[in-house]
Amino acid sequence: MPKEAFIDLYLLLFLLIVGIGSVAGYIYYLREKGEAWKSIQSGTCPRCRRKTILLTDRRGGGCGPKLVTYTCTECGYQNSFSIHGSCGI
Ligand SMILES: [Zn+2]
Repeated sequence: MPKEAFIDLYLLLFLLIVGIGSVAGYIYYLREKGEAWKSIQSGTCPRCRRKTILLTDRRGGGCGPKLVTYTCTECGYQNSFSIHGSCGI
């Protein structure tokens, strides 16, 4: 096997690992975000499990996506979510 081919294979393997790693990381991130959102929707802080979640910031509006920020007054937990606004009839 020529040396160049070996290097290419090594690089390919490296890229594959990085690719899988970032996809897995993204899936994990989405799952975490989903769990946090579900928890916040029921008024519970995902970190300390207290009912002290407050909507502290809301950006955008109308028919476009909205960015909402929730903060826990008890432990300082903060998370932002982008949600799709309903246009209203
Ligand atoms: Zn909390």
